[in-house]
Amino acid sequence: MEKIKMTTPLVEMDGDEMTRILWKMIKEDLLEPYIDLKTEYYDLGLEHRNETNDQVTIDSAMATKKYKVAVKCATITPNAARMSEYNLKEMWKSPNGTIRAILDGTVFRAPIVVKGIEPCVKNWKKPITIARHAYGDVYKGSEMKIPGPGKVELVYTAEDGTQTKELVHEFDGPGIVQGMHNLNKSIESFARSCFSYALDTKQDLWFATKDTISKKYDHTFKDIFQEIYDKEFDEKFKAAGIEYFYTLIDDAVARVMKSEGGYIWACKNYDGDVMSDMVSSAFGSLAMMTSVLVSPEGYYEYEAAHGTVQRHYYKHLKGEETSTNSVATIFAWTGALRKRGELDGNKELMEFADRLEKATIDTIEAGEMTKDLALITTIENPTVLNSEGFIKAIAKRL
Ligand code: NAP
Ligand code: MG
Repeated sequence: MEKIKMTTPLVEMDGDEMTRILWKMIKEDLLEPYIDLKTEYYDLGLEHRNETNDQVTIDSAMATKKYKVAVKCATITPNAARMSEYNLKEMWKSPNGTIRAILDGTVFRAPIVVKGIEPCVKNWKKPITIARHAYGDVYKGSEMKIPGPGKVELVYTAEDGTQTKELVHEFDGPGIVQGMHNLNKSIESFARSCFSYALDTKQDLWFATKDTISKKYDHTFKDIFQEIYDKEFDEKFKAAGIEYFYTLIDDAVARVMKSEGGYIWACKNYDGDVMSDMVSSAFGSLAMMTSVLVSPEGYYEYEAAHGTVQRHYYKHLKGEETSTNSVATIFAWTGALRKRGELDGNKELMEFADRLEKATIDTIEAGEMTKDLALITTIENPTVLNSEGFIKAIAKRL
């Protein structure tokens, strides 16, 4: 068979521990036999990040700006234990945080839906993709404990020194107070990423805040989304047959529970934090969750939502058998290959991505899966495969 050719490289960001092991197997068994794989390789494994003083992470993000599409393996975010385990020069920052700061994107997380792994919410038939705004609000808030009676005010001092004040509260006893902010620029790029991704995936976009109570703060989010939609996306949405739907956050929550799924739910920072864990656990498993960072300029970085599966890696190092689920990592590759194909007009590459996803889903639906899924499947007598066996079973179908 002649291998599928690629015209532009993908940015490949290798990672750590068990996912690094899966990464290699996926490339060898599922990609390289069929594709003349062109990647610009960056080793984001912790050892190499340490050797390069984390420059490699920055370089990989800059390469993503150049080539527009990246695929990333899970990586260790160092903590005190990792400092000594890897003898680190510094407690390097989370690579995802560094990359996101450079690309200024929004992260979209979507479950991979297969028959036999049923969501807890029985009417959910299609994935619900959560888009979380990753800047500001309570995550960059400042807080005070108010010890006793007194007045708390918000004070804005303009550059020319003029001040505007707003009373928060006249305390007559102890209490608490919090100040938070956001930036129009950040909300605008969040909105653009959401609208673009909705168009890209041909799904409706839902957005919700509490604008009836928060008449300036939340209302600004609502207004910015509406303005950008009207100016830049209304016609494109109509042509694609999709809808932008704004509602109040409590109404959105109620509707989500009763829906069939199949849309993108854009959330403010705190709502996204809370709702993404609820939605992902209700869909079944973190190992079946994909994640893509979409920048407002149209750069894409695909990865699995889970971490490096450290516990399995230590078993692997001891020579014990592991049964680690590679689905989300495979889908990170297919997402990136499909996007690469789309940008390059490479139909063969896009069709390959579809076939690999189908082979993966068919394998599970035929009852062949890793242990994490075997524990929750409704399929009777599933065959539990080890990490490598599962990838080989997919390869056979492919
Ligand atoms: P984790 O790697 O997501 O794993 C937590 C547990 O979830 C595992 O021990 C395993 O449960 C289960 N699990 C996750 N993915 C699985 C898979 N593919 N197949 C089977 N089971 C799976 O989280 P962690 O152990 O808290 O973090 C490990 C490292 O990952 C940390 O250093 C952290 O910094 C990093 N991390 C990276 C990213 C990223 O790069 N995007 C995200 C999160 C965490 P059982 O042990 O019960 O089988
Ligand atoms: Mg959370």
